[in-house]
Amino acid sequence: MTNDRTVDAVIVGAGFSGLYQLHRFRELGLTTRVFEAASGVGGTWWWNRYPGARCDVESLAYSYSFSPELEQEWTWSEKYATQPEILGYAQHVAERFDLERDITFDTRVESAVYDAERRRWTITTDTGEVVDCRWFVMATGCLSVSKAPEIPGAERFQGPTYHTGHWPHEGVDFTGQRIAVIGTGSSGIQSIPIMAGQAADTVVFQRTPNFSMPAGNRPLTEEEVAARKATYREYRKAQQLSTFGVPVPEPTQSALEVPEEERTATYQAGWEQGNLVAVLASYTDTLVDKDANETAAEFVRSKIREKVRDPELAELLSPRSFPYGTKRPCLDSGYYETFNKDNVHLVDIRRTPLVEITEKGVRTSENEYEVDAIVFATGFDAMTGAITRVDIRGKNGVSLKEKWGEGPRSYLGLSVAGFPNLFTITGPSSPSVLSNMMVSIEQHVDWVTDCVRWMRDNGVEELDATPEAEDEWVRHVEEVGDTTLYPTADSWYMGSNVPGKPRVFMAYIGGVGVYRERCDDVAAKGYEGYTKYPDVTAAPEKQSA
Ligand code: FAD
Ligand code: NAP
Repeated sequence: MTNDRTVDAVIVGAGFSGLYQLHRFRELGLTTRVFEAASGVGGTWWWNRYPGARCDVESLAYSYSFSPELEQEWTWSEKYATQPEILGYAQHVAERFDLERDITFDTRVESAVYDAERRRWTITTDTGEVVDCRWFVMATGCLSVSKAPEIPGAERFQGPTYHTGHWPHEGVDFTGQRIAVIGTGSSGIQSIPIMAGQAADTVVFQRTPNFSMPAGNRPLTEEEVAARKATYREYRKAQQLSTFGVPVPEPTQSALEVPEEERTATYQAGWEQGNLVAVLASYTDTLVDKDANETAAEFVRSKIREKVRDPELAELLSPRSFPYGTKRPCLDSGYYETFNKDNVHLVDIRRTPLVEITEKGVRTSENEYEVDAIVFATGFDAMTGAITRVDIRGKNGVSLKEKWGEGPRSYLGLSVAGFPNLFTITGPSSPSVLSNMMVSIEQHVDWVTDCVRWMRDNGVEELDATPEAEDEWVRHVEEVGDTTLYPTADSWYMGSNVPGKPRVFMAYIGGVGVYRERCDDVAAKGYEGYTKYPDVTAAPEKQSA
């Protein structure tokens, strides 16, 4: 295992981003160290082991494209792979490309300080290691810092508590128990049907109902796997050029210009595909026009009413406070149907707020619910949480956390002005969580790799985004965001789930394909929007002056 104290590059995180970045840096011949807080590779898929955890982008699309051999030798078994299968894939990749020898596990990076004179970073870990490097990559994930609910008293509870984002490796059997589940986002929606199937009694505490559609999960047939394997190259190209990293036919019509019957039939066809973007991408204006959006939202609510027998309960489970798609939609396997069971109860904590966790359970303004175990499915300090938890100091000792005090600012979601040679994989202001993340991860890693190769080949020791380029990108991301309905929702995309977090739309909704073109253009223009040292892109007369 590499344990050098001076290397070319340090990468933080050994999820899909960090693994691929390590592989690409190796190809460049860089000496690289990766630090990972977990005891193994896989990131999201190492931590999120709750019952029912799966991808919700189809397995045949949610995988690396960089190695045709890997594509051919790996075979997904289900339409939506389980967490163990995806973790197995990450482990297979690490083994196949011999990655682990450069990864230091069980080690958290605590700080990173830029030395402007030497143009190098000093990285310090919680085990006391200090490593010096030229390039520093934060591959720390958009959804890797789990968020506890802001309810007093959790330490008093006499039974076990669990968070979906760091679930025990040995699993949990709730058979015969009374359980409380707080949170109804994707993690809650995936896990509740399974946990409620085991438990004697389940109480679900819902702050905001979500839009979910049936995943229609099933084993993949040999024929469909073979068909995708035979056409992977064309398919990957289509992914890269698409809006969400999932190729679907581009819509051409407004939802409001087609007759209701036809519209419902279109939504129904999307619904039956069990594909997150199918209904969303049915019409051009679903994400930009409230009335158009309402047609899709009402379609999903009609499905909830079909599934849930008690009309009052169906209404409680029906989202009305935000447009469809502006909080991350979910895929489920029997979520709404679970509430038809007599031993499953829904508590609307908008009406009767959570007051505290007691020795015996959960107390709302109306009741105390005595339970044997509590599950927090309360999500993440998304997008910025993992980055600002590291004390990153750029030029003149400026703290990244302080710089981002009013919300993240970056150039392309890849670089931050004043923090040279630092790259953030799927950083805020890039398409990241609004896409099939494998596509966005590979695009970022490939761009960073090309950039580092260019720096090395041209003798450039320092590359720093200019404040002007950063301002322009921040403005652009905001302007594009403002043409959509996303900023109208209280979502984790907006930072609204974390008390005190600035309200900023943290992702780029211009589309994966459009964004890729912009990044490629910046590179083609000699890394436009960056200062370089030495400035190899300056006009010759300026260089010699
Ligand atoms: P991560 O997988 O989050 O890895 C980051 C790693 O960095 C973590 O292992 C963490 O321990 C480590 N780390 C962070 N900070 C430090 C530090 N300071 N020091 C050391 N190590 C550190 N996306 C999709 O596109 N499709 C899906 O179906 C999908 N399903 C998901 C399901 C769940 C339950 C969750 C939570 C997310 C899902 N996502 C999905 C998003 C998912 O996070 C990405 O697809 C992808 O796995 C992210 O990979 P990553 O390497 O960028 O980050
Ligand atoms: P989430 O979407 O943020 O959901 C968290 C839930 O907890 C929400 O219902 C939230 O309510 C509630 N909550 C948070 N704090 C609370 C508090 N203090 N009191 C009461 N309720 C509280 O988190 P997640 O479900 O873990 O999912 C996060 C993201 O990870 C997803 O959006 C998705 O991108 C990814 N993911 C994907 C899958 C998949 O299917 N492949 C599965 C899991 C996760 P509010 O809505 O009111 O904030």
